[in-house]
Amino acid sequence: MSDFSRVGIFGGTFDPLHVGHLQCVRTVKSRLALNKIFVVPAAQNPRKPRTDGPRDEDRLEMCRIGFKSDDYVEVDDREIKRGGLSYTVTTLESFSKDHEPSGLHLIIGMDQFEELDRWHRIDRILELANIVVVTRAGHSTPTGLSDFPEGLRPYVSDFEKGFGQLTTGRHIEFVRMPDADVSASDLRKRLRTGRSVEKYMSIEVEEFIKSNELYGPIGARIGDYEEFTRFCSEALYNKKGLNVRGYDLRPTTAPTEFALIASGTSTRHTAALAESVLTAVKDEFNVFPQSVEGMSEGRWVLLDYGSLIVHVFYDFVRQEYRLEELWREAKDLGIKDPLAK
Ligand code: ATP
Repeated sequence: MSDFSRVGIFGGTFDPLHVGHLQCVRTVKSRLALNKIFVVPAAQNPRKPRTDGPRDEDRLEMCRIGFKSDDYVEVDDREIKRGGLSYTVTTLESFSKDHEPSGLHLIIGMDQFEELDRWHRIDRILELANIVVVTRAGHSTPTGLSDFPEGLRPYVSDFEKGFGQLTTGRHIEFVRMPDADVSASDLRKRLRTGRSVEKYMSIEVEEFIKSNELYGPIGARIGDYEEFTRFCSEALYNKKGLNVRGYDLRPTTAPTEFALIASGTSTRHTAALAESVLTAVKDEFNVFPQSVEGMSEGRWVLLDYGSLIVHVFYDFVRQEYRLEELWREAKDLGIKDPLAK
């Protein structure tokens, strides 16, 4: 058991670490008088699709560099060592063995609070730690219990002035911090397109990223993008994707060079189609998309492979957006079902 009686646990992907993260930790430390805060990079967030980016060791190192001057911070590698999907409940169980269980505080941003009722074993999480929610630009702070996510309300016995008593004996509190209008996803885009990031991260972290080329373009690993588009189309056909079309967009003003579009017969089928592209590309090229959008809804899933964007639609939604009308000047790659006679 450690000497620390009031401990904060701040998990995340930290891909990359940015000023919003630093500010969260520093604000909570001063407001709650915590003795120690553990920053715990996840191996894989179960609620986020895997995207192309730095190795686990590099994300750990970014955290070590970024928090170097905060002596109460310890970067903890237990989720990375454990590997696989990083469930917070497992991490908290393990911290409660090493530290005074009553002093554990789980620190999250407001965006995470909004979906907290969907976290795996939330019932147990609320037994294992107090919850500290930090405000985040673009996300409003609850003023009453009705602003809580529905599945969380049964656990709150009393809520007043940003402080809630939980039925588990723990509490949830909201900590206001000045807006840090930054997100890791936006920074990944900036880094990949060579835009400035200096306002959003410490100079040391930026130097580490640049000298190790952590967010380089994925094109070199993909090679010929027309071939790659055809490769992805096969993955879609193999899962019975409908109306698969590939386009060379270079004759148009579109911001990317190639597009692949296909439909599924349901939101589930749509997500499964996108998943089949992810898996095929990972197996063949060892590449993950730069970003993935819409996977949990399965209405319009967008996989960004740099010079190729794959759009997988629930067919009904595809009719609504009619993207192909925007691509009239594009060259149709004449993609055909490889299994069709
Ligand atoms: P992404 O854009 O990829 O979703 P992120 O910027 O939210 O990433 P994470 O590593 O997922 O970064 O975040 C770790 C924790 O930090 C989460 O609890 C998140 O809510 C919180 N957080 C991140 N950025 C901010 C911010 N700008 N303000 C307040 N909280 C933040």
